Amino acid sequence: MKLGCHISIAKGFATTVENAHQLGCESFQFFTKNPRAFKGKAADPVQAEKGRKLMAEYGLVAVAHAPYITNLSTPDDELQAISIASLTQDLENAEAYGAVGCVCHMGKHVAQGEEYGMTRMVETLDMLLEQYKGACTLLLENTAGQGTELGTTMEQCVETRSRVAQPHRIGFCFDTCHGFAAGAYRPETWDEFVANARSIGYWEHLKAIHLNDSKADFGAHKDRHANLGKGFIGEEGIARLLRSGAFDGLPVCLETPVETEEDYRPELAFARSLYQ
Ligand SMILES: [Zn+2]
Ligand SMILES: [Zn+2]
Repeated sequence: MKLGCHISIAKGFATTVENAHQLGCESFQFFTKNPRAFKGKAADPVQAEKGRKLMAEYGLVAVAHAPYITNLSTPDDELQAISIASLTQDLENAEAYGAVGCVCHMGKHVAQGEEYGMTRMVETLDMLLEQYKGACTLLLENTAGQGTELGTTMEQCVETRSRVAQPHRIGFCFDTCHGFAAGAYRPETWDEFVANARSIGYWEHLKAIHLNDSKADFGAHKDRHANLGKGFIGEEGIARLLRSGAFDGLPVCLETPVETEEDYRPELAFARSLYQ
């Protein structure tokens, strides 16, 4: 696996890459733009080229993340159009920065029901992939099932992918906190969970991992990230996941609570100590 963490892009993409390297990351995640806004800047071509060169030099893998406020299942036509325009830019930026894919959470059905939410998400994804013709893969992230979030089971993620017109352009990102809080797995059932996820065609399209402990208990349906070993998954649980071999070859990024990026340094070392 390629271990890393979330790094700010506020000072330009080349600085993001440098900061990731300084922290000893083998991979990193960044926001394509301000995570709380739909409108953002297009990728700076100079920063993009500089950053991509540094990534090659350092052997770093980048994972992009779209703003949290995008809802693929929104019933509001205007909001859907805004989301599509926003995600088009996210994919363009992710592509310019040489990311392996751009992460976007599964939709929220906002009281319209699961069936409606699924259908609407597929419709939005089809429209998005009509508009964006580039090479960047959209990575659907599983959710904790907070509120009306879809994507608590790997089956639902696979179903979404299989229903879109261009499934080859969709991959997955698995968040260990979300999966646990959604009740999808426990450390004790991890191997069976992975075996099932492989058999239904989820794991083969998995492109990135978010490695987080969970402040919320198993099945609590709350999205609350905890530092590794400080949550309900626990040190032994996280170690079990890391040692299982399920993340082999994948970028594995921390999204745990930190004051500054420097705080990731001991946590990265801790994660390494759990599987080496
Ligand atoms: Zn995540
Ligand atoms: Zn989360």
